[in-house]
Amino acid sequence: MGEIMKVQCDVCGAKWECMEGSGILYGKKESIIAAFSERERAQVAARIEKSEIPAYDFTYRIMVCYHCRSVVSVPVLVTWDDETYVGACPSCGGKVSVLVSDMEKSVCPKCKSESLWAKIEGHWD
Ligand SMILES: [Zn+2]
Ligand SMILES: [Zn+2]
Repeated sequence: MGEIMKVQCDVCGAKWECMEGSGILYGKKESIIAAFSERERAQVAARIEKSEIPAYDFTYRIMVCYHCRSVVSVPVLVTWDDETYVGACPSCGGKVSVLVSDMEKSVCPKCKSESLWAKIEGHWD
């Protein structure tokens, strides 16, 4: 079960809706591999093959991409040896940073002010 998060900036009014968590579908390793972009799949597959099933965890996390200035859902894989593999930005393929949490405000990728917040809007599975 995952959450649909609404992310909004109070200063410039930019809004995004992103998925967080993981659905039932992602119990399957084929689905996990498919969640990553084409050029990342070989690496992800190799990491999963190394793991004892089901000693890996897959989730979507909300990240900020300062390259294409947007908030995106990025696939994240944590393997048995606690290695975290964070996918690239699904829009531009760039490196994502800063996790948006609901505890503190993040820096808005559009206007650069610390006024980005996230809240749960609904669920997906
Ligand atoms: Zn803003
Ligand atoms: Zn991007």
